[in-house]
Amino acid sequence: MSETLKIAVQKSGRLYEGSMKLLKECGIEVSNGNNQLRVLSSNFPVEVFFLRDDDIPEYVQDAVADIGFVGENVVREKNKIVDSIEKLGFGKCRLSIAIPRNGQLQSISDLNGKKIATSYPVILTTFLNEKKIAASIHEISGSVEIAPRIGLADAICDLVSSGSTLFTNELKEIETILFSEAVLIGNKALSTEKRIILESLLFRIRSVKKAKNNKYVLLNAPNDKLDTICSLLPGMKSPTILPLAEPGWSSVHSVINESDFWDVIEQLKANGAQGILIIPIEKMII
Ligand code: ATP
Ligand code: ZN
Repeated sequence: MSETLKIAVQKSGRLYEGSMKLLKECGIEVSNGNNQLRVLSSNFPVEVFFLRDDDIPEYVQDAVADIGFVGENVVREKNKIVDSIEKLGFGKCRLSIAIPRNGQLQSISDLNGKKIATSYPVILTTFLNEKKIAASIHEISGSVEIAPRIGLADAICDLVSSGSTLFTNELKEIETILFSEAVLIGNKALSTEKRIILESLLFRIRSVKKAKNNKYVLLNAPNDKLDTICSLLPGMKSPTILPLAEPGWSSVHSVINESDFWDVIEQLKANGAQGILIIPIEKMII
């Protein structure tokens, strides 16, 4: 049988959907209809293993899986020997310290001699040592946010995304220790065959990520402003310019980066561009 690349993905939870969506956008079909532990793709040489996210770094280190999709927070906490290969752009969150909103504590220096509840003792210990804060750590595996209210701890160190969980638990964030997103990690000793499959998967992942960061732009421009408008929209190589039926006008097609988007649109309008259409791109190969 020819080689397959074994990918570890979170079985259920916050990373499951994003992981499956990414594989689908890469054109890799994986049907997990029957809640199985492992599923072979029908059209790409990969086999997906569905596991608890906390176990993924160890499984990748030990070559039970070849690669895995997992939060950077877990990679840092578990400290296994794996390669961090590519950020995946989903599962974004931060690991923060939070304290009771109306309590006596004000800042992280007030945590000296206090107790902090967390599921991330390794990352928190490193942070406290760096900041020379002598606090004790109370490790709990879930529902960390209720610890101060039930008297288990004075503060917490937990994952935050919108902040709504902190808010409903009368906590406020005072320090961010780590910004995290899902990353692709890999075993350090992949065979040549597996590396070739990984390269092909990475090529697809990067095309999907690039497409997400870019939009296709179509607009009508007066011919005397084409030079300025084209300089605002360099695109992948250069913009496409097509004459309109109306004399003196052209249609300009290009690609624009999501982060520059609003600034550039303002300048395009100021230079007489009309009928601006912004269209999502599905894949981008350059
Ligand atoms: P498992 O049963 O697999 O151990 P879990 O309860 O540890 O699941 P989830 O809550 O599903 O894990 O979170 C998985 C990952 O999703 C986190 O480790 C983190 O990387 C990411 N994540 C993104 N946003 C958040 C958030 N607001 N809270 C918690 N995790 C988040
Ligand atoms: Zn977990």
